[in-house]
Amino acid sequence: MITLTGKCTIPNLLHSNTAQSRKIDNVPKGAHVQNMNRLIDNIIEPVRKQFKTVRINSGYRSKRLNSAIGGATHSQHCKGQAVDIHIDGKTPKEVAQWIANNLPFDVLINEYDRWVHVSYKSPKKNRGRMRKAVHWFDEFGKRHTKYVKRNYRRPAPKPKPIEHSEAKPIQPEAKDEAAISKSLVRAIKYLLQNFWRS
Ligand SMILES: [Zn+2]
Repeated sequence: MITLTGKCTIPNLLHSNTAQSRKIDNVPKGAHVQNMNRLIDNIIEPVRKQFKTVRINSGYRSKRLNSAIGGATHSQHCKGQAVDIHIDGKTPKEVAQWIANNLPFDVLINEYDRWVHVSYKSPKKNRGRMRKAVHWFDEFGKRHTKYVKRNYRRPAPKPKPIEHSEAKPIQPEAKDEAAISKSLVRAIKYLLQNFWRS
């Protein structure tokens, strides 16, 4: 866990109390570093600039570190694509809402109302998934996690109803032009006939 006020760097994402105390190797591969740089540029830095500070609960996890802390088997943390963050004075829901409305992301999860898990892949591969992780207990009292769909995006504003006086007159559409010219021809014929009669 590390609180940043200055620019986030790769070592900030490698830091882990568990790795330190248990002497677990947490060195990323080259591709993982590239992923972490994308995560920093597209998620962590915009969040830090918005809230002036960001706490990194967990960033990169080697496979060994991930299993030591009980992370999901195919965790995006193991590829350097995911980070768990918290902002002092903001609820995880508020942080998730800001991210959903302002940043591109792959997966965004409010985890147990305690922190926000957010991942980034690439503009083409980001899925924009939004979830909330909640605990539930089975009949033996064992704790499990389930992921519930959540939409953290602000709903689009409803269009203002047009006042009657502002309503535009309905313009005839192009497809009606043939019909209009037909009735014009008919009117002219009628006028000509009546002209000759008088
Ligand atoms: Zn996470």
